[in-house]
Amino acid sequence: MTDAAASPAVDRSPLANRIVDTLIHRIGKDERVARKHDWLDATILTLRDEIIDKWMESTRAAHASGAKRVYYISLEFLIGRLLRDALSNLGRNAEVKAALASLGVDLDEIEEIEPDAALGNGGLGRLAACFMESMATLELSAYGYGIRYVNGMFRQRIDDGWQVELPETWLTHGNPWEFERRESAYFIGFGGEVTSNAAGRVDWNPAEAVEAVAFDTPVVGWRGKRVNTLRLWSARAFDPIRLDAFNAGDHAGALAGQVRAEALVRVLYPSDASAAGQELRLRQEYFFSSASIQDVVRRHMQYFGDIRLLPEKAAIQLNDTHPAISVAELMRLLLDHHELDFDEAWDIARRTFGYTNHTLLPEALESWPLPLFERLLPRHMQIVYAINAQVLREAARSGAADGGAIAAISLIDENGERRIRMANLAFVGSHSVNGVAALHTELMKQTVFADLHRLYPDRINNKTNGITPRRWLMECNPRLTSLIRDAIGPAFCDDAEQLKLLESFANDASFRERFGEVKRSNKVDLSNYLREDQGLRVDPDALFDVQVKRIHEYKRQLLNIIDTVALYDQIRSHPERDWVPRVKLFGGKAASSYHNAKLIIKLANDVAKRINSDPAVGGLLKVGFIPNYNVSLAERIIPAADLSEQISTAGMEASGTGNMKFALNGAITIGTLDGANIEIKDRVGDDNIVIFGLTADEVAETRRAGYSPRSIIENSRELSQAINAIASGVFSPDDPGRYRDLMSGLYDHDWFMVAADFDAYAAAQRTVDARWRDRGGWQASAIRNVANVGWFSSDRTIGEYARDIWNVM
Ligand SMILES: *Cc1c(COP(=O)(O)O)cnc(C)c1O
Repeated sequence: MTDAAASPAVDRSPLANRIVDTLIHRIGKDERVARKHDWLDATILTLRDEIIDKWMESTRAAHASGAKRVYYISLEFLIGRLLRDALSNLGRNAEVKAALASLGVDLDEIEEIEPDAALGNGGLGRLAACFMESMATLELSAYGYGIRYVNGMFRQRIDDGWQVELPETWLTHGNPWEFERRESAYFIGFGGEVTSNAAGRVDWNPAEAVEAVAFDTPVVGWRGKRVNTLRLWSARAFDPIRLDAFNAGDHAGALAGQVRAEALVRVLYPSDASAAGQELRLRQEYFFSSASIQDVVRRHMQYFGDIRLLPEKAAIQLNDTHPAISVAELMRLLLDHHELDFDEAWDIARRTFGYTNHTLLPEALESWPLPLFERLLPRHMQIVYAINAQVLREAARSGAADGGAIAAISLIDENGERRIRMANLAFVGSHSVNGVAALHTELMKQTVFADLHRLYPDRINNKTNGITPRRWLMECNPRLTSLIRDAIGPAFCDDAEQLKLLESFANDASFRERFGEVKRSNKVDLSNYLREDQGLRVDPDALFDVQVKRIHEYKRQLLNIIDTVALYDQIRSHPERDWVPRVKLFGGKAASSYHNAKLIIKLANDVAKRINSDPAVGGLLKVGFIPNYNVSLAERIIPAADLSEQISTAGMEASGTGNMKFALNGAITIGTLDGANIEIKDRVGDDNIVIFGLTADEVAETRRAGYSPRSIIENSRELSQAINAIASGVFSPDDPGRYRDLMSGLYDHDWFMVAADFDAYAAAQRTVDARWRDRGGWQASAIRNVANVGWFSSDRTIGEYARDIWNVM
């Protein structure tokens, strides 16, 4: 026990006393035996009590004003830890820190043990989390709907260089943030049959059903102005146990219903390699869509009483196609429960929904085998046919669509095995379809949705993604935040575009100096973490070159690794040259069934092992793979980055948001003209970003003209040497053939154009070296990045959704 904890209770602040009271009465521990987790829970519960008052107030205000509500439906919410976020947004950080200190508890330490809510996979899920925070900040009345996964995204461990997937157990200690709403439960049916009577009344009699139960987490906006709700659905069986079977000795069978229900909410993206896995995913999607839509309709009827007013009182945004079945579900409720006719129901649905597209990759566009869909959701199948008939009639009437266009517009893909196209369902069922960066939106019009765009030319619009500057600057980078505040005052805390005022400080040598010291301190922190966590020693004065994001071939971690190998080669051949010391950091998860992505992780680790132990590079080059990239690690890594790797094949990254986080924290981007990189370049200026490689048009043109990577590789000495070294086992002496196929893929097809962009990338990296040597010039560029990326605040993005799509501002 510390001295502070021994001090008499009378000296403590009221807040400290409340925390102790919570510890005793809600956790059931006293101060002497409380562990860190108990203090964490007591702190969260104490804070939560205060948040609840604001929450109720927000709900009452929404009811009183009759305001339109926004519903954001997303299979992923990558919210990360919540304590620091809530404290910071409520402006209570210093006070809570002092109260805990008087109890002998270190706030930073307990913040660090809060589990990371890993209810998402990557950018799409983090976007949903940033949006929730910005919607509360802009004081919109908004709800997020998702799934309360018990395990969520897997936890990644690296064993001997290989990714190992472990269940994420974020709920082990319970979740003090959430409220279970036992009263908000909905019936979710599957299978069975549909009957209709003579009067045309349709009845769906599902063969099977589970109950969706709501768990609510409060989302606090900046300055605590408003508290919104993130409602996550859990599943339970109607009969948790069949007592007859149990008593007859069939214990497992008696519990099977509950097990089946729980499987729905176990993990995000269960493997769809098996038919059972595919079915589970469709069940998951219907489960959370149906619960959400039923909840929206129930709330609407409770407050407004007239289903026809739904589009005026509710805006439902579909985050990608995972919740696209919501369109058919709302139609079902309107037709079968509210007994509207088809035309009126269709008009209401279209005016209520908006759809955000996140990818143009054909393999990522969801579609379901028709027989599976029909068996699991027979009533929705009928509705999809009816919607399709309506849309194809409109297409025929428009005269704009020939046979090919009709086939592309159809909700049913007739090529080979018939499948339901979820993107087409989302598109036709929404009044707004948006892309997430200017280039991506243009490409949507030209590629995946070309025919639908011709039919509905006003529907596609752009909403360039954003990030919340609270988490991604103020909370993750307190040093930079206070430096900025000292320079330009606090206005940027309420309006990120005020960061613009920092621009003139780029020319101020003493400010540049202080800016450099902040970055260095952040790098020292990260270096300490890398040493303690992985035994990796890096020099904080080296250039920190970082690529952290999901591992995917289109993101081209391989381009970066091959360049690393080429650089290694050159350093060994010319140790006398004036090399810029670099630390290359990688991090990210590979989908569990994605073979090449997992092999790329192993390659990064193999290359790291060899380079880091080679005395010939003399510490000029270090390589690290940071396991289990998640929000909390991102908050640690990004403030310490000098160089941000955003090197996707042009045309393939819809937007990126990692690129925005890095720039906001004073890293310089090396990147292709892809996604939001283009808009970042437009704002920070050509001199403050390093752009290389083919444009999206050039990629498309190169493919059309017949791309031959082999001749490119053979003509580039650096590239062929690096590829051949990897292919011949230089980095995998224990299994020399490990990378043979991965490398021969580059020779044979190289779909992601690694070879085409390699020389340009290597040259761009030498430009980076040259700029780094000019320390003042580098700092000035980094400062200009911070100053000019305030526009990428998710407050700006949400303002645009609110005005253009939801009609709530
Ligand atoms: C921001 C973020 C992402 C998205 O990164 P991209 O570089 O845009 O792909 C993924 N994962 C986490 C944990 C993030 O914070």
